[in-house]
Amino acid sequence: MKKLLYIVVLCFISNSLYAFELKGTFFQGNLIVGKADSKSIVFIDEKKIKVSEKGFFVFGLAKDRKNDISIKIIKNGFTKNLTKKVYKKKYKIQKINGLPSKQVTPPKEVYERIKNDNRLIGKARALDTDLIFFSNKFEVPLKNAIITGVYGSQRVLNGIPKSPHYGLDFAAKEGTEIKAMLDGTVTLAKKNLYYTGGTLIFDHGHGISTLYMHMKDIFVKKNQKIKQGDVIGTVGKTGRSTGAHLDIRLNWFDIKLDPASVLN
Ligand SMILES: [Zn+2]
Repeated sequence: MKKLLYIVVLCFISNSLYAFELKGTFFQGNLIVGKADSKSIVFIDEKKIKVSEKGFFVFGLAKDRKNDISIKIIKNGFTKNLTKKVYKKKYKIQKINGLPSKQVTPPKEVYERIKNDNRLIGKARALDTDLIFFSNKFEVPLKNAIITGVYGSQRVLNGIPKSPHYGLDFAAKEGTEIKAMLDGTVTLAKKNLYYTGGTLIFDHGHGISTLYMHMKDIFVKKNQKIKQGDVIGTVGKTGRSTGAHLDIRLNWFDIKLDPASVLN
């Protein structure tokens, strides 16, 4: 009996050195939230990532990722290595024909504008702040909305393969209130970007950002701190949009993730 107890205690000690948990499923496009002991050092694919004071960390799996992902956690000189298989997601092919050609390929005179928009968006997505809102539960941004577009769909416009759709589209009437999915800080608030029209970007910490696109009204300003459920604007059809809808995005730095992986 004494011996058994001894073994149990030993196991407990050695386990507690490596105690950590991962929330999320290892499918392409998904967001994974981890919690390790405080003061752990975490590497994802050999790249060191931020760990919060309480031990929270986060990473994402790219849309077409095929290889396994390696997670290394170091605490008090002990190293735990973990390799996780990344499962494939099936993506749809969406063919749209009969579009005016300038809707498929933008005219030359807007190239500079698009480049500038992308620079602004890229800058907002590159932030690596200490916020840990990413570890909380996301909420849907619209009530009773119908999903009309999903992450990963390959778009073929007038027979020309275009970049895949990375957002989650909700059909809703123009003017419908949009709520913040999660606490965060506004890092971009623009009324009129070429593709995305009225656009908001929020920072949720550690490289996790969300985007809201094609908005009619924007009620918040850059650097404003927003609570989950706050009304941040309304649904519109601004930018390149065929009708009123809300398109939301989720990113881990420059990796575009599936918003559906954090919403029910
Ligand atoms: Zn969309």
